[in-house]
Amino acid sequence: MKLSKIRLYVDHPLSQGQSVPLNKDQGNYLFSVMRRAVGDGVLLFNGRDGEFSAEVTVASRQNGVLVCVAKTRPIVRPPDLWFLFAPIKKARTDFIVEKATEMGASKIVPVQTEYTNNARIRRDKLQAHAIEAAEQCGGTYVPEVANIQTLRATIQNWPQERRLMFCDEDLVGAKEKLQSATPGPWAILIGPEGGFSSPERELLRQMEQSVSVSLGPRILRADTAAVAALTIWQSSLGDW
Ligand code: SAH
Repeated sequence: MKLSKIRLYVDHPLSQGQSVPLNKDQGNYLFSVMRRAVGDGVLLFNGRDGEFSAEVTVASRQNGVLVCVAKTRPIVRPPDLWFLFAPIKKARTDFIVEKATEMGASKIVPVQTEYTNNARIRRDKLQAHAIEAAEQCGGTYVPEVANIQTLRATIQNWPQERRLMFCDEDLVGAKEKLQSATPGPWAILIGPEGGFSSPERELLRQMEQSVSVSLGPRILRADTAAVAALTIWQSSLGDW
């Protein structure tokens, strides 16, 4: 049996002794690309039941099957932190979704702002990126990637109890930090390359739940700002 570090996300219930059928992509990856065979071990998680070691019982690209051997880790959910961002160019949008997953966002919400360069995103592809990031970083949870929604609708339907860390490039160099903030449900909002429009900024500042935050004395690119904001939030209110 090969010592394996392969971790696979499966959309299937997991428990000791449970057999898990693989789809064609997974079968192809495991048996053609990674050359696993009957008796080899793999780690499985489904975002709900924790992580299990599993053994290949049928090594077929079309109809591969694994059987769960033992639970290796419990499910560890991230804090209740939504990550809202305006999609930018494809490669950088993919990067943002990957990083938000690694950094422990509980839900990823693309929002269309006035200056959003690219609102035509593929939700299913972004979800696949989140799954890959969870597989790679050892996470047992996969954040849901929501459908894109307009910033206005998002603000109109904002839940009363959820606070919003509004990263406002207009505050570049200002002293506004995430100080004396209390734990609970939160969200982070990062704008597009063009930044926020003045009306959007007004709306966001007027929200009772919003806390305007500066990310330092330089203007960061949206993908850098995403990682910086998640770092600040996680280290002061999250699970770091
Ligand atoms: N084109 C804009 C910058 C947009 S940067 C300009 O020149 O003003 C993209 C996003 O990253 C911003 O909307 C904001 O959410 C975040 N961001 C970047 N640098 C920041 C900073 N220093 N403080 C707060 N937010 C920042």
